[in-house]
Amino acid sequence: DRIITSGMKNEDVDIESSLRPKSLDEYLGQEKAKEKLKIFIEAAKARNEQLDHVLLYGPPGLGKTTLSAIIANEMGVNIRITSGPAIERAGDLAAILTNLNENDVLFIDEIHRINRTVEEILYPAMEDFCLDIIIGKGPSARSIRLDLPKFTLIGATTRAGMLTSPLRDRFGVICKLDLYKIDELSSIVKRSAKILGSPIDENAAIEIGRRSRGTPRIANRLLKRVRDYAQVKGDGTITSEVAKSALELLEIDKLGLDYVDKKLMLTIIKKFNGGPVGLDTLAAAIGEDRNTIEDVYEPYLIQLGFIDRSPRGRIATFNAYEHFNIPYKK
Ligand code: ADP
Repeated sequence: DRIITSGMKNEDVDIESSLRPKSLDEYLGQEKAKEKLKIFIEAAKARNEQLDHVLLYGPPGLGKTTLSAIIANEMGVNIRITSGPAIERAGDLAAILTNLNENDVLFIDEIHRINRTVEEILYPAMEDFCLDIIIGKGPSARSIRLDLPKFTLIGATTRAGMLTSPLRDRFGVICKLDLYKIDELSSIVKRSAKILGSPIDENAAIEIGRRSRGTPRIANRLLKRVRDYAQVKGDGTITSEVAKSALELLEIDKLGLDYVDKKLMLTIIKKFNGGPVGLDTLAAAIGEDRNTIEDVYEPYLIQLGFIDRSPRGRIATFNAYEHFNIPYKK
């Protein structure tokens, strides 16, 4: 049970809703995606039309759900939130779609996990805003077309490559969300601390940002733990000393790595002589799922420059050897 997991944990539920930015200006970082979206939103609003379908992709916890709610907010429409695995039958999707209002946003999280039959209904819905429904059985069966309100589908996924190409092609706007930089994360931490009413030093915010693996969800979670520590061990002010001690207690190292990262890196370095080692072999060696490695652990290790991807597999870099204090041999 990692504290630095990027997925949603139960402990996040209460703070996430209060810390969620509500407008594009409050949404820190992701400048490229924001710039693109601002233009499309403005244009759609000026034409009084629904926004084109948007695909957001990137690791968990980077703000895909948050951004979708902001888009709906900026467009002045309602958002309906669901997820790929939650839509089990074609009828489930039909019910959702027919209940939308004109120009509404439908957000489908983990859209790559939608099943085939549901996906096929989505094509005409996205393209022509209609549903083809078969009524009756056998020779008397006939198909009728049902018009839908114009809507914006926002799909979220960890990797764009996991979508089938016909689905991917139906998105007019595709935005990649990147891991956040330390200064962006420290701004997010400062904003959150202000909302939570906790005084925080600049350096403490940087310290938390540095250990948040590029992920706002983790930054907010660490802030919450550090805040508790500050309250019990001090006067409630989050100084950089308080932040450091609290994070040490949580066993998160200076770069935000924990035992899982360490195991992964040391497996490549020691068991596979620094690599290259194939993803499946690595997954089996550390007893993890290959997709989890690729979507959750690896992006941050790649950003740190600890892992290189090569056609023959993953390679541990000099930086990784140095961090774990292991003599580097080529
Ligand atoms: P995802 O849908 O990508 O898993 P979320 O949208 O649920 O991620 O974001 C997780 C939390 O991180 C949110 O509750 C929000 O408070 C915070 N967050 C995400 N992106 C930002 C951002 N750009 N600025 C400030 N806070 C953010």
